[in-house]
Amino acid sequence: MTVTTSTSHQAAGAREEAQVSRLLTWLSIMAISFLIGIGSKAWFAGHHTHAWVLWSFVLLVAANMAYFAKSGNRSRQIGGLLSVVGLLFMYLIASGGESNTGPLWFYVFPPLLFFLTDLKTGTAVLLFCYLIAVIVFQFPGLPLITAEYSMDFKIRFFATLTFESILCFVLEASRLKARNELVELAENHEYAAKTDELTGLSNRRDMQNRLLSEFSRYQRSGHHFSIVLIDLDLFKSINDQFGHDAGDDVLRTFSALMQTIIRQTDIAARWGGEEFLILLPDTSLLQALTLAERLRSETARTVFSFRDSRLPVTISAGVCSIAKACSVDDLLKQADVNLYSAKEAGRNRIAPRVRSHIANEADRA
Ligand code: GH3
Ligand code: MG
Ligand code: MG
Repeated sequence: MTVTTSTSHQAAGAREEAQVSRLLTWLSIMAISFLIGIGSKAWFAGHHTHAWVLWSFVLLVAANMAYFAKSGNRSRQIGGLLSVVGLLFMYLIASGGESNTGPLWFYVFPPLLFFLTDLKTGTAVLLFCYLIAVIVFQFPGLPLITAEYSMDFKIRFFATLTFESILCFVLEASRLKARNELVELAENHEYAAKTDELTGLSNRRDMQNRLLSEFSRYQRSGHHFSIVLIDLDLFKSINDQFGHDAGDDVLRTFSALMQTIIRQTDIAARWGGEEFLILLPDTSLLQALTLAERLRSETARTVFSFRDSRLPVTISAGVCSIAKACSVDDLLKQADVNLYSAKEAGRNRIAPRVRSHIANEADRA
């Protein structure tokens, strides 16, 4: 009954996830190449332990890639890579890497972190890493800490890293804001393209698409469906007598009434002007006729009023089931023919008549 607005959001989310996954694979490949290269350089420079540690990180990154390839779990892939990279940076800070240049790799971390996690998680992880870095810098005598840095280096390192982190945070926050605004805009467009402005029901285009997909479902799995084509009786005279605003009000009130009568799975659309179409999935002709008759009698019983004037509102409807038609066009044509005969027979009625339909079915049996 309602027009969904979440499709754009879901599509954007799925696209982003696939993009992040591709990026992670490339980053992992790059990390492996760098680690092998820098490890080899360290080996030939005689720093064998450092080389072995770097190469063991290659195994960790590769294991993370293999795990993702097997499980397809994207959040674990992100968590795994960030943990390995975080650990590597901690090692580089603690050991100093080659010629105490290890901490420089830390600059890679903030943009990566903010891109791969949300702003809150990114900030929390970054603060934790800062804390570790402070401990390493302040207590060079602790076990596993072999590097010592000059005061100038420490001050500049923290100052530039803080500057970079804030910049990454701001850029990521504005990227997210722009992205959310775009998604919202797309959702509004999607909603407007499917919805009738006056009544809030599906519009003709949306109904046509739904009819086609219901017809495909019928062809695939034999699920029957029916339609009810409704036309408000002598609507022109309501406009003429009470004004166009009164006519609009009737259209809105009738739409709301229709929504209360149909099921959750049925779809009501404004087919054009004062014509409406209801799509009833998994519904036989007899069930559709019963619903249409209920809608007709409810409409006739309901008091429609506008600025203290009582408006005479009734409907006529033509009903048809897909069992009687060979295509959506044929279905619509037959419903239209039935609607025409309801009008011809004096309005405020449904065609075919329930009783004559049952008699026809009995004859055939
Ligand atoms: P019938 O019982 O044969 O259907 O008679 P009718 O007067 O309902 O049919 P007709 O097609 O002659 O008139 C339909 C009227 O519906 C004419 C048009 O001005 C009015 N109409 C169409 N769309 C709107 C709308 O959005 N708002 C209002 N107020 N009137 C509309
Ligand atoms: Mg009409
Ligand atoms: Mg009419």
